Amino acid sequence: MTSVPHVAKSLSASKLLPDDTRALLTRLWHTQVRQYPGRIAAVIAVTVLTALLTALYPLVIQRALDMFATRDPRILYQVPLLVVVITLAKALSQYGQTLATQGLVLLVIRGLQEQMFDHLIGTDIAYVEREAPAKLAARFTTDAVSIREAMIRAVNSLGDVVTVLGLIISMFYMDWELSLIAAVLYPVAAVPIQRLGKRVRRASGGMQERVGETAAFLTESFAQARTVRVYRLEERERARAALSFDHLYQAMLRITRGRARVDPLLEALGGAAVAAVLGFAGWRAAMGGATLGDFSGFVAALLLASRPLRALGALNAALQEGLAGLVRVFAVVDDPPAVTDSPQARPLPQGKGHLVFEGVSFVYADGRVGLNDLSFDAQPGCTVALVGPSGAGKSTALSLVPRLHDVTSGRILLDGMDLRDAQLESLRASMAYVSQDPLLFDLSVRENILIGRPDALQAEVEQAARAAAAERFILALPDGYNTVVGPGGQRLSGGQRQRVALARALLRNPRLLLLDEATSALDSENEAQVQDALATLRRGRTTLVVAHRLSTVRSADMVVVMKDGRAVECGTHDGLMSQNGLYARLVRTQGLER
Ligand code: ATP
Repeated sequence: MTSVPHVAKSLSASKLLPDDTRALLTRLWHTQVRQYPGRIAAVIAVTVLTALLTALYPLVIQRALDMFATRDPRILYQVPLLVVVITLAKALSQYGQTLATQGLVLLVIRGLQEQMFDHLIGTDIAYVEREAPAKLAARFTTDAVSIREAMIRAVNSLGDVVTVLGLIISMFYMDWELSLIAAVLYPVAAVPIQRLGKRVRRASGGMQERVGETAAFLTESFAQARTVRVYRLEERERARAALSFDHLYQAMLRITRGRARVDPLLEALGGAAVAAVLGFAGWRAAMGGATLGDFSGFVAALLLASRPLRALGALNAALQEGLAGLVRVFAVVDDPPAVTDSPQARPLPQGKGHLVFEGVSFVYADGRVGLNDLSFDAQPGCTVALVGPSGAGKSTALSLVPRLHDVTSGRILLDGMDLRDAQLESLRASMAYVSQDPLLFDLSVRENILIGRPDALQAEVEQAARAAAAERFILALPDGYNTVVGPGGQRLSGGQRQRVALARALLRNPRLLLLDEATSALDSENEAQVQDALATLRRGRTTLVVAHRLSTVRSADMVVVMKDGRAVECGTHDGLMSQNGLYARLVRTQGLER
């Protein structure tokens, strides 16, 4: 299972202590929040204003009731006016508060998403390929949602704190004895709430993992829709779906149980506090104590305080979910790429593309051996074909040249420089890569070709397309070069996509060409055109090709026959045939297509 290290990471992360919470929040503050001082000030201002306006309510009630008791005629106009003004003001500031808070939080989330994407787009291919795409996507979607929720709640809680403080002041102002009782009872609630928070945070980690796994399953299942139908895999897929949904259900249920306990707990504790206060107040009223206004105002304050207090109590749980999400997001950003420019990296020297593999070994992260002591020397301008049985390490060898991975031992030299000493940018600019079944971006044909060299002129794009035998079909498209090719290039045929990819490589004019030859042949007309285009492309540059066709191997200057990650034979087609070894066997058994 590729996801195991990740699960382990998030589980250990979910056991974080408050110290780590502080570290997380500090980091969030420094990397994202701090850069919006104006917005932060606005959020604080409107939040405090909203809270203060709420705290005024009990005072109005107290005043109204006292006027009522003394039959003061001003009650007719003063109190209604006051109520209207305060509610209007509160409504407006509440609106402002929601906008300001969400505006800030959404900016922060966008920042986090950009930070993650910036990291992932540049990080090692090995990391990205280890994770199912949908699981990585979950960091941007579901984790982002829990972080957003937590942040919004956290900001609102600032308002709740101010509201409660304001209400407490109102309460003490009206009746300090009763206030003392409430003040003793409320904090008792804190202990069980904290315990629940921890549980929710743990459950949240599990849930996000399950969400990612379910998304990964769905993506895979839908992508394989044809295979599923043709092979009648519906039942198997249904069973897999049921299992996946069941895991998700269990995880959701666990978190729901945690969350569900918070509110009733707070409700019960709040009820107990109100009952105690009312009991005491009733007893004191019987003794002939405070006025009706004082008492009503006080009870109003107590009741008004219960909503923000409850929100504060539930805050911990939401916060823990958000923190768990934040841990996972930062874990993505913190995974340092292994393939980077070394401090003494220099630009690749000028040269004609002399590529040398010297005793190169490569072991994948899971311990599988990709290459084992592979050596060969590709002279400038020559074509070297890598052939061998499946799993021999041909694709691995190709992927080491642009440093998608770094060699485990040995070294690769391009024009005399160890690849690891060259600046990645200059290294990759010196080569072009054409894959087996090239997928195009959902852009116009022109833009797809321009990827080869973004500053090329239209005439150069056309010239490349012509050389790649692509111009005729491009001009026949509804919008010619401006035709958008659809996701992956699906509006073009396989052969057309290949020729667009070849035109892109031609436009780049690299000194080194990396080709992963398609295993399946195209129809003969397309095939002939692609072969012509390839011949044009290879002219005058060093080409390393993973070959599956006899015609390609025949035209190569050197054939490296690979098995179990090493070169077992080396020479030209004719020479190797006369050796009568593995190569001759591959050709005879049609291991290479004619
Ligand atoms: P084919 O012709 O079938 O494409 P190949 O000669 O290109 O095969 P590679 O794909 O280079 O062979 O694989 C060489 C070895 O490395 C195989 O044993 C394979 O299982 C392993 N391997 C390839 N890719 C990975 C990966 N991402 N993680 C782990 N092992 C891998």
